[in-house]
Amino acid sequence: MSDSPGLLRPRNFLIAALVGVGLIVLVLSTSVDAKRAAELRAGELAGNVAARVIASNTESGGDTHSRDFISIPIEVRKLADNVYQARGVGNTQVIATSEGHVVYDTGLATQAAKQRRLLEETLPEGPITHVILSHSHQDHVGGTRFWTEDDTEIVAHFEYPEEQRYLKELEDFLWTRNRMLFPFMPESPPKSGIFAYGDVVPTLLVNEPNILKFEQGGVRFEVLPTPGAEGADNLTLWLPDQKIFFSGDFFGPNFPQFPNVFTMRGEKVRKPIEYIRSLEQVIALEPEMIVPSHQDPIVGKEKIREGLVTMRDAVRYVHDAVIAGMNAGKSMNQLMEEIALPPELSVTQIHGRVSWAVKSIWQYYATWFQFNSTTELYNVPHTAVAAELAGLAGVDALAKSAASHVAEGRDLEALHLLEIALAGDAKHRLALETRIAALSSLRDEAKATFNNTYEIDWLSLRIGQTEEALGALRE
Ligand SMILES: [Zn+2]
Repeated sequence: MSDSPGLLRPRNFLIAALVGVGLIVLVLSTSVDAKRAAELRAGELAGNVAARVIASNTESGGDTHSRDFISIPIEVRKLADNVYQARGVGNTQVIATSEGHVVYDTGLATQAAKQRRLLEETLPEGPITHVILSHSHQDHVGGTRFWTEDDTEIVAHFEYPEEQRYLKELEDFLWTRNRMLFPFMPESPPKSGIFAYGDVVPTLLVNEPNILKFEQGGVRFEVLPTPGAEGADNLTLWLPDQKIFFSGDFFGPNFPQFPNVFTMRGEKVRKPIEYIRSLEQVIALEPEMIVPSHQDPIVGKEKIREGLVTMRDAVRYVHDAVIAGMNAGKSMNQLMEEIALPPELSVTQIHGRVSWAVKSIWQYYATWFQFNSTTELYNVPHTAVAAELAGLAGVDALAKSAASHVAEGRDLEALHLLEIALAGDAKHRLALETRIAALSSLRDEAKATFNNTYEIDWLSLRIGQTEEALGALRE
């Protein structure tokens, strides 16, 4: 993986310095209001620097979709009479009432201070009575500290503290993986200061089957626990009088879509049965507008109902097919191959791939032991004998055989052979060239079929690494 430490480190230092200055201002400020104002200024200043660092990093790496995503401009728009949104990587929504305002999601830490300032320029004056968090991901809760006032209720799902705990404890693991897929990210996560993840303490937890209902300034609010899509702690917000549904990441970046049951970075598996239950609950509401915390609102009762029903049925179809296949004695790989959405349920797999969901559902129910081989139970993988195999077969012969697999469209067979070949000789030119050919062919196929962004990011990463290895041979 290519790093540009010369470019990154001084700027990381600059961010740290700015955050430091902000904190000194905070300590010196006497009143609570002055402290809050200073924190917001420091947050916006450091956020602007972070945005510039990311923008300059994106010039050199990352696939187009992720670059487009992180360069969404921060701007405010009015979605309904009393509903405002600050767009950004993560959107922040405010429902204004005469007795104070309710905030749904607080976006990325580096964008939140600016989002709040722009929203406040548009909003009628009033206290922030509630901050409702859709789930524990940092692009939804990062700006919480910039929104909370002395009496603000911080509302989250009952599972929120546990989800935040494990995401924080595995922060380095997840960050490293994310950064491989999205090379424009800073080298390491901020461990302290105003941008650090993991210190949100909810003041009110909501657990199913209970719905939190309240009325404020003549507006009725319903906070619904709807787990299953992007983790166990999804909380959505419903305005029954306006029929607006604030979904957080309940649908993911597209609507309708197949959900991301499996995450490439390696979060806990999401539970399809929980998601089906949550979808049922949302279908019954009959929303007329969906406001997600990424991208644009979706409007239209019929269109929304149709999308919700298709998503529910698609998830149900895949889940039940896995169960039936397991009971029929089929293997996990066989089911990955066999299970596909029927035409009437064929929603986009840009975000979540059906074959990966198959694998995840299998492993969720039956864990990792496939009953295939004794060696699965022990710590010596087949790669431990790959170099020996390469010696026996000959690296040249393996690379040539792999090349003919690629020529005949069997890229995965080729990649298996190449793993053995490269274990024998990591600098074998034909093996490296053939690996690029196999990966490129897989990427072409990915783009031509499901266009799944994670699959494309992964294949691009591997192609880049192999190109680097080949480049090193020329030096
Ligand atoms: Zn998100």
